[in-house]
Amino acid sequence: MFLLNQQIQFSTSKKWLGILLLIGLLLQAHTSLFSPSVSIPKQVQTAFEETLQYYPELGGVDVKLVPKPNKSASMSAAPKVNVLWRNKKNRQYRIYIKLGGPEKNGLQVQQLSHELLLGVLGHELGHIADYHQKTRWQLICMGIQQMSKKYVAQMERQTDKIAIEHGLGNYLLQFREYVLQLEHMPKFKQRTIKNYLTPNEIKALLQEQSKSN
Ligand SMILES: [Zn+2]
Repeated sequence: MFLLNQQIQFSTSKKWLGILLLIGLLLQAHTSLFSPSVSIPKQVQTAFEETLQYYPELGGVDVKLVPKPNKSASMSAAPKVNVLWRNKKNRQYRIYIKLGGPEKNGLQVQQLSHELLLGVLGHELGHIADYHQKTRWQLICMGIQQMSKKYVAQMERQTDKIAIEHGLGNYLLQFREYVLQLEHMPKFKQRTIKNYLTPNEIKALLQEQSKSN
C-alpha cells in the first residue's frame, strides 16, 4: 500500500513536472516571438563582459543578455529550458534586462552607472554560477521551491554572498545603497529590504573577507 501510494505520488509529480516544462517552453516561445527587437546598450554589454571576468568558472559557458522592454524587474537570470536535456557544457543561460516601461518594480538598467551595473550584474551572474553547478533535477526542485517567498529570500541572500565571494562586494554594496535611497519606488525598496543582504551585512562580509586575505 505504501509502495502503491509512493508510485501514485511519483506519477502525479511527474505529470506536474511535465506541465511546468510545457508552461516554460510556451513562455519562452511567447517572449521570443513577441518581443520587439531592441539592442543591448553598449555600456551594459561592456559592464557585463567585465563582470563575467569575476566568474572564471563561467568561461566558455553560453550566457547572454536579453533585452526586455517592458519587464517589471530590473534584471533576472534563468537557465533556458534546454538545460533539462543538454549536457552541462552545452547549457545556455540568459539574463533578462529591463530597458523601458514603468519603474514600478525595477529600474531601467541603461540609467545605471558602470559601478552600479557591475553590482547588479554581479548578483545575476551569481545566480548563473549557482545554476551551473546544479544537476538538472536540482534545477527542477529549485524552480518548484521558488514558489515559496521564504525560499526566494534565502536564495537571493545566498546569491549576494556568491557575488561577494567572487570579489564584487563593493559594487554590490553601491548598488544596494543606491536602491535603498530611491524614495519614489517604495515597492521595489521594500522588496529589496525583505529579500537581499542589507548594506551593513555586506560591509560585515567585506570586512571578514579583508581579514582572511
Ligand atoms: Zn537575484
